Amino acid sequence: MKVPVLIPRIFDHPHTYLSGKFGKLKPGSIVLVPFGREKEIGVVWDRVEETNKKFQLKTILEKKSVSFNKNLVKFINWFSLYNLVPKGMALKMCMGDKSVFSKSSDSFKETVAGSRIKFNLNLEQNKCLNDIKKFGNKFNVTLLQGITGSGKTIVYFERIKENILKNKQSLVLLPEIFLTDQFNQRFEDYFGFKPAIWHSKITKKNRRIIWNNIINGKIKLVVGARSSLFLPFKDLGLIVVDEEHDSSYKQDEGIRYNARDMAISRASMENIPVLLSTSIPSLETYNNVKNKKYNLTKLEKRYKNFSLPATEVVNLNLDRKKKNIWLDSKTLNLVRKYLEKKDQVLFFLNRRGYAPFMICKRCGSKLNCPNCSIFLTFHKHINKAMCHHCGYKCSTNQKCKKSDSNCEFQMYGPGVEKIFAELKQIFPEKKIKILSSDFLNKKKETKNLLADIENNEVNILVGTQLISKGFNFPNLNCIVVVDADFSGMGFDLRSTEKNIQLYNQLSGRAGRFSKDSLVIYQTFNPSDETLKNVIENDPDKFLEEEIYLRKEKNLPPFTRLIALIVASENERDGFLEAQKIKKNLSSLQNTEVMGPVTSPIFKIKNKYRTRLLLRSKSNLFIQKEVAKILKKINLSKKIKLTVDVDPLNFS
Ligand SMILES: [Zn+2]
Ligand SMILES: [Zn+2]
Repeated sequence: MKVPVLIPRIFDHPHTYLSGKFGKLKPGSIVLVPFGREKEIGVVWDRVEETNKKFQLKTILEKKSVSFNKNLVKFINWFSLYNLVPKGMALKMCMGDKSVFSKSSDSFKETVAGSRIKFNLNLEQNKCLNDIKKFGNKFNVTLLQGITGSGKTIVYFERIKENILKNKQSLVLLPEIFLTDQFNQRFEDYFGFKPAIWHSKITKKNRRIIWNNIINGKIKLVVGARSSLFLPFKDLGLIVVDEEHDSSYKQDEGIRYNARDMAISRASMENIPVLLSTSIPSLETYNNVKNKKYNLTKLEKRYKNFSLPATEVVNLNLDRKKKNIWLDSKTLNLVRKYLEKKDQVLFFLNRRGYAPFMICKRCGSKLNCPNCSIFLTFHKHINKAMCHHCGYKCSTNQKCKKSDSNCEFQMYGPGVEKIFAELKQIFPEKKIKILSSDFLNKKKETKNLLADIENNEVNILVGTQLISKGFNFPNLNCIVVVDADFSGMGFDLRSTEKNIQLYNQLSGRAGRFSKDSLVIYQTFNPSDETLKNVIENDPDKFLEEEIYLRKEKNLPPFTRLIALIVASENERDGFLEAQKIKKNLSSLQNTEVMGPVTSPIFKIKNKYRTRLLLRSKSNLFIQKEVAKILKKINLSKKIKLTVDVDPLNFS
């Protein structure tokens, strides 16, 4: 009997095999097949690919005892069609790695032992839980919206608990792996067992254990990053997407997809509910709620009823006595009051390192990355200049063009290390720590730092965006936004939306257990619109305005964008191929083909980048046509083409 088998490699179609002694095989069966000179694990697929070519058919060698459920096969087909990714590559993401098929039968301990700590839902939380239950157990999307500190997590924990009691599996997606440790603890406190944690950095052994116990249905709860969406659940009953607005759900490298959107697709294939949790939804989600495509349930009070922090704007133009000093005297006076009370103060700045760029005082040369078209950032703790795109590092001892000695670099702009240095001078007796990815390489150090912060053994914290996510710092009552400048922030049509969400989340870190909390915004542009929106803290009003603007400008969610990025070693090759692609795509109906243009960051990792952008009505599904055309074009081997459906990043 002929059966189609999809191989987890770069093929968009299954290969045909003979089933031999295995007879009729269901789609989803995992099999071992001869492939070229090797053996390969593949999955029996749902449709035979018609072909005129004559092949000598080979026979399936082995059938594994476990199999994918048919909904996962459907999901992979859809994922590949939607994101223009070969089916085989999508399948590869579901396979764990080869070691998962080894014979060892590690078991996984997980029992519903009940909470260690008693959790009681308040009235509002109960109302939300009832809303969510009312929307049913079939496919539906519900937005669980609540201001930071309102206790959304407990609401969805309750929902998960019910799901587990029904013997079904649950998946909780988180935007950052980094979160999982603190989250882990909260889960454990609540459920009385450790959930299975899944992300790209877990050990091979854990990967094997978890994968095998998910496909056999023994693991009931997985907490994971984007990639956990591809796990072969046997009987999934619920998906929760926490911080649904977070742009790190979008994978921007390799296979590009949006895990939030794909979680909704997977839930629809499985015919199960999906919960999106956030304090300010993404514009897409907001629009879907508005159009009644998604349900909404809201938490409006903070859990312990403390009000949100007060705000203060400090105009940096008024007090600029010294050059390159970033902490204003008015700010420092406000901060002192909190420090005297032994409250924690956070200085927030979303810039790693010491200075974002440097110019030589004598010859005027700037330090650029040799591989990318961007400036190098100076990192004081390693005394090197570093590229934040490719990781290139170099010493700042450069031969000067205008003198016999080395260049003498003047540092421009602040980074977290610079703020740390300023604070050390002003508050020499205080304990000051930096929380940024450069300082959190070791798991143990991170744990210790978080514990120190929680126990109020750190007085002042200097942190990047990392800090805005999910942490619970009980003594943090004052936050200083060092550089609230929103102009020219990246190449992203969502930058305003992102800023609103970021600063909302950030200010939610303060005053969880205090009536007296404050957020200070230092800025050179006190009348900036985004800043006004941030301070006003009326997300619905902001989202309404933003929806209006997007409609006016023909941007998503009112149109669909697909970006095509051509990367090449030679500048001209890329541009010529992009023109060729454009010519071929011009036959697309109802679709605008924009470009080719050079990318805002023209060179990354020694590759020149040229972009095309397709725009069509959002109700048209143009992916099928685009895929057909791209398959027919004979592209030069000198270029690499990346397709990005619903792009978020335009750099
Ligand atoms: Zn670089
Ligand atoms: Zn110089």
